[in-house]
Amino acid sequence: MTQLAIADGTVVSIHYTLTLEDGTVADTSVGGEPLTYLHGAANIVPGLEKQLTGLKAGAKAQADVPPGEGYGEYDPEGEEVVPRKAFPKGQKLQPGMMFHTQGEGGEPQPLWVKDVGESEVTVTYNHPMAGRTLRFAVEVVEVRKATREEMEHGHVHGPGGHHH
Ligand code: ZN
Repeated sequence: MTQLAIADGTVVSIHYTLTLEDGTVADTSVGGEPLTYLHGAANIVPGLEKQLTGLKAGAKAQADVPPGEGYGEYDPEGEEVVPRKAFPKGQKLQPGMMFHTQGEGGEPQPLWVKDVGESEVTVTYNHPMAGRTLRFAVEVVEVRKATREEMEHGHVHGPGGHHH
């Protein structure tokens, strides 16, 4: 049996470790369940998706992803200072916490806490990884063909994916 290569319409399981430029490990799947995603459906950052294309199960790769192909450049204008009381009463606030607000079209818009003051909170629409070069060490665990239903939904079903 020939091994399937990663392409649009495949379901891919990877183990990965994400390291930042300064060497800190930001995230890893090693020691837990692999990350399973639908390739070609923007389930993962575009730069990583692009560099995984063509790999087969068992392959190991090092993928450096610049901000433009990762979580975007940091936009200093994407910050806002809001009153502390705009947040739910009793809510503990910490830098890095994510909230959802409504975007212009009514769609959910993620927002992160940047600084917490006594009466004011600085929030940012920039992803915490914005402006960072991402360094992924990846091992491909499994590649299979996506089902028609997974293709229609744009995500993976079953182990490591959606259950519904
Ligand atoms: Zn689904």
